[in-house]
Amino acid sequence: MSKINKKSISALQHELQDATAEQIIAFAAQNLASPIFASSLGQEDQVITDIIATGELDIPIFTLDTGRLFPETYDLIAETEARYGLKIETTFPNTGKVEEMVREEGINLFHNSIESRKRCCGVRKMEPLRRMLGTSNGWICGLRRDQSPTRTEMHAIEWDAGNDIPKFNPLINWTLEDVLAYIKKNDVPYNPLHDQGFISIGCACCTRAIEPGEDIRAGRWWWESPEQKECGLHVVDGKIVRSKDL
Ligand code: SF4
Repeated sequence: MSKINKKSISALQHELQDATAEQIIAFAAQNLASPIFASSLGQEDQVITDIIATGELDIPIFTLDTGRLFPETYDLIAETEARYGLKIETTFPNTGKVEEMVREEGINLFHNSIESRKRCCGVRKMEPLRRMLGTSNGWICGLRRDQSPTRTEMHAIEWDAGNDIPKFNPLINWTLEDVLAYIKKNDVPYNPLHDQGFISIGCACCTRAIEPGEDIRAGRWWWESPEQKECGLHVVDGKIVRSKDL
């Protein structure tokens, strides 16, 4: 049974505020009956996979295959599995929901309107994510505090009110430079698109490289205005934050 509940979050935030990523992930493994790690195969998530694998921690890893990913992302799944000798559980959208959506709005419906794009993200990403989180009693993800203004007050552990389980952010205090240094030092496999100007890598049809100085989010759904770009919202400790860029 999990020792972590909504009432204990505040004390645990204090307890874990100076903990290393390795300590936070180990804490999740020790105190959750069924922890799970949601990996988008991004650089931060590859660091967490490396920590889980080298620490031989009993934390299943899953990723969402929206059906629209880059070939490089599929190759990275295979490379990561081979490198660490582990299995990344690949979760797919509900086939009937995808067929219904495409029948009604077309294969590239995300260009039709904001609502259509959000429908696509809902069917291909949010529903499978919720489904997988429903199998666990706490999850781990690769958010960093300096990625976005909405993340500046986040902690190493939060209560994910939307899914009613705790969420661990072991890299919350890391900078991008920390992430890159860890990858280099430990020879962690990463998506080669990062070397071509892709920062946040999602679906191929909705991700582009960015120019130096451009905002990170400029590479996602670039045909929309910035305030319309959330792929799904959830509430953490009473605050609305953007969902992870899966
Ligand atoms: S990122 Fe684009 S293709 Fe992927 S689920 Fe969202 S709208 Fe659909």
